[in-house]
This record gives sequence, C-alpha cells and structure tokens, in this order.
Amino acid sequence: MTASASDLAVENIVIVGSGPAAWSCAIYAARANLKPLVYEGALTEDNRLRGTLPLGQLNLTTEVENYAGFPKGIQGPDLMLAMREQAEHQGTRIVTEDVVSVDLSTGTPFSLTDSAGKSLRTHTVVIATGASANYLNIPSETRFKNMGVSACAVCDGALPRFRNRPLIVVGGGDSACEEANYLSKFASTVYLVHRRDTLRASRVMAQRTLDNPKITPVWDSVIDEVLGDDSAGVTGVRVANLKTGATRNLEAAGMFVAIGHTPNTGFLKGQLKTDDKGFLVLSDPFRTTTNVEGVFAAGDVADPVYKQAITAAGMGCKAALDAERWLAAHGIH
Ligand code: NAP
Repeated sequence: MTASASDLAVENIVIVGSGPAAWSCAIYAARANLKPLVYEGALTEDNRLRGTLPLGQLNLTTEVENYAGFPKGIQGPDLMLAMREQAEHQGTRIVTEDVVSVDLSTGTPFSLTDSAGKSLRTHTVVIATGASANYLNIPSETRFKNMGVSACAVCDGALPRFRNRPLIVVGGGDSACEEANYLSKFASTVYLVHRRDTLRASRVMAQRTLDNPKITPVWDSVIDEVLGDDSAGVTGVRVANLKTGATRNLEAAGMFVAIGHTPNTGFLKGQLKTDDKGFLVLSDPFRTTTNVEGVFAAGDVADPVYKQAITAAGMGCKAALDAERWLAAHGIH
C-alpha cells in the first residue's frame, strides 16, 4: 500500500537553498530543536550551467574579505563548507536534491516534491534559494556557452583554452571586477567591457581593477556579437561604442558575463509575491514573513538592496526565529 500525502510525517521546517541564509537558518533552527531539513540543491549539469549548484554563489567565488570574523579573508568555498558542517553538526538533515514544486495554496502543512520524486509535508518553509547570474541573451552568446562563454570565472577560468590568451569580462559591478582580477592571473589581457564610463563596483574593488596592468577597460561599450566557430569556440567579440556608434572587433578566447543576478524563484510558480525584478517581497521589512503564512524568505532571493553574504546570514537567522515563533504560536512546537 502506498502512503497518501496526508499520511506523510510533517516536518517542522524545510529550508530550500544552501548559501549563507540557508545554513544560518539551519543552525538556529537546529539549536531550537526544530530538526530542520535543508534541500541544498542537486548536483546536475543544468544547475552547473545556471549557477545553482549546492553552496550557492560564494562557492563560485575566491577571496571573501568582508565577512566579519576572518581578518585575513577566507576563500568562499571554505566559508560555505564550514557553514554546512556547522549546520550538520547541530543536527540539520541535508538532502542533495532540488525542490521542484511546492503547493502553498492549501495553507500549512504544505506539500513539496523534490527532484528525486519524493513528496513531503512541512509546517513551515524558508525560501533561501539565492539568485543566479544573468546573461546578455544574444543568440551568439547562447551558441558559445561552454565553448568560451561563461558566467563563472572561478569555475571555468583555469581551463587550458583561456591560458595566456586575451579574455573579455562584461559588466562594471563588484562581480565583473572580481572576475576580471581573477582572470588576469591566467589571461594575457582582460578587456573589461562596460556600458558606462564609471564602475559601479565598491571603491576598493574599482581601484584594484583600474590599477591592474593586465586589465584594459573598454568604456561606454556593449557586446554586439560573440565571434567564433564550431571548432574553436569563441575567437573574439564585436563591441559597439554607445556614444559614437562605432564597432570594433576584439580578439579573445573567452567571454565572462558578470551583469547581475536574477532571484531563483521558478519552482514557486508565482505563488509568492515578487517585485518587478522577481525578488520575493517581505510583508514586513523587519521580518522574513511573505504573503503566505508559514512561508519565510531570506537572503538574496528576497533582497534587492544589499545582497551581501553577511546580510543573507542575518536574514537566515531571522527566518529561523520567525519560523520558531510561528510554530510556537500555532501550538506545533
Ligand atoms: P551589479 O552590482 O548589479 O552590477 C551589474 C553590472 O552589470 C553593472 O555595472 C551594470 O551596468 C551591468 N549590466 C547590467 N545589465 C547589463 C546588460 N544587459 N548589459 C551590459 N551590462 C549590464 O551586480 P554584481 O556585480 O553581480 O553585484 C551584485 C551584488 O553583489 C552587489 O551588491 C555587489 O556589491 C555584491 N558583490 C560583492 C562582492 C564583494 O564584496 N566581494 C563581490 C561580488 C558581488 P550599470 O553599472 O550601467 O548598471
């Protein structure tokens, strides 16, 4: 006999995501004896290409110099593994699958289905799925994905095809500067193609980038087309100057896109309120409550403003406390 949905044991709290918000939430929830279950994401090629593998964006970065407690900085992947280990040590259970659907229409307990086909029920859910990298969405970019086009220098930058060759980074924020500096270790030259003539990045990061002799800014410019062929992949880009309209070709073995991020909310299928950019809207700016009772949100998925590792971790803590209070108020825990 197979169990029907209503026969399934009901979890106290399911946390979807595996960045700083998710692990901080899990640590607090575990210490409150809520026996949290974290869905950290599945190890699939699809997730690799979308930048949604377990351990989130910090696992795709290098040095983190602004997370309090590490005076000499810490590598992003080391920080994430330490958070995961701490959550597990406190009693968090971890599933290495995606949550593929959730039904919030019934009210609590909610039903979830994971990428292994398993169903479960939970009194509360914390959405901490973060955000993933945007692409330019021009046809030539799509054609050369995995053949020289990437949105993650740390994942792909050390590949032999990029060594001692010119490379392109697109964008002018902290991510673009970080990628350009990282790639300058491998590349002969890095062209930083930015649509304006000032960087959006923090002052320290911008100065470091402009001082790097291997980085050449290409101001006021956008990518018109990625050039290449099926055997060599990317061989260059055609850039257009937005002020003069002039175009020119730059030879390059790769193009790294760093133009911001979009919140990962597809699996929610519009059941939670979002803003015009897709960020989940918190019903009270000082809490982590959403428009559905029992559903909380934390980290970059619900933060159009700060988007920092440390603010995500703080929101994760708040989500655990909000969920715990909600469970207590409903006499569940
Ligand atoms: P971001 O700050 O939003 O910057 C995106 C950049 O891409 C901007 O320069 C933007 O140009 C450009 N851009 C956007 N859409 C474009 C398009 N369609 N074509 C061409 N260019 C486009 O994003 P981010 O750099 O990913 O940073 C996100 C957040 O994470 C920020 O809060 C940042 O401080 C933080 N972060 C921090 C660190 C760190 O502290 N180590 C590292 C990485 C990220 P405009 O400037 O013209 O808008």
